[in-house]
Amino acid sequence: MGKVFNKTNPPLSPFFKGGCKRDFGWGDAVMKKLKLFAILLLLTTVFYGCAGAPAKAPDVPKAALLSKASDSSKAATRKELSPALSNPSVHEVGFDIDDTILFSSPAFDKAYAGAEPYTEDFWKIVNASDGKVSHFKKKTVEILKAHQKKGHKIYLITSRNPAGGEALKKFLAGRLVIPEENILFSPSGKTELIKELGIDAFYGDSDSDMRCANEAGAMPLRIKRSPESGYKASYNPGCLDEYIIPDSE
Ligand SMILES: [Mg+2]
Repeated sequence: MGKVFNKTNPPLSPFFKGGCKRDFGWGDAVMKKLKLFAILLLLTTVFYGCAGAPAKAPDVPKAALLSKASDSSKAATRKELSPALSNPSVHEVGFDIDDTILFSSPAFDKAYAGAEPYTEDFWKIVNASDGKVSHFKKKTVEILKAHQKKGHKIYLITSRNPAGGEALKKFLAGRLVIPEENILFSPSGKTELIKELGIDAFYGDSDSDMRCANEAGAMPLRIKRSPESGYKASYNPGCLDEYIIPDSE
């Protein structure tokens, strides 16, 4: 015998009160509440999704942006070799020669052995010897090439005496693909020349290079001196708060 739904034999489900006819009873009230809840939920979503959402990203303090830029510049630097490479205001770039472009102690040793120090003969020997005994510094040349690739104008400025300097110019111009006239001797100081040439960033190993760059308003960038270098004076990396090129010894 089939089951009869009546008050004395209620169905298992409360939705089936009173025989086979569906009478939602308190179930109807629950459904109404659910519908109301769903409407409220929808309205809340619409409100916060449109009117409640901020019209634009909140303002970030300028200092925070600068610090972010400087962080990314540092990150770029690690990848790009030098901060001057990613700086859009850098167009003219200067490099010192001894202990920056060249490990030239052997050329100086040759001159010390062959002439009275710092006489014209001494400088003639130094300037004529680089092609035979000096070595290019790998990291600096890599940086120089990267600047050339960006279309930057390159200058080499040395405080060597110009006696016999044509040999040095020829050697460096040929190897680094730089016009000879961009290789300059400035034994009395580099500040004025850096300023006159409009150099934006200057690479050097000595404290004096960094000081000259600062005085001329150029970005000072320190190339580390090789521990094998015969020149030990004027070398305190970081003393002028300059950027030190990593692995540039
Ligand atoms: Mg030097």
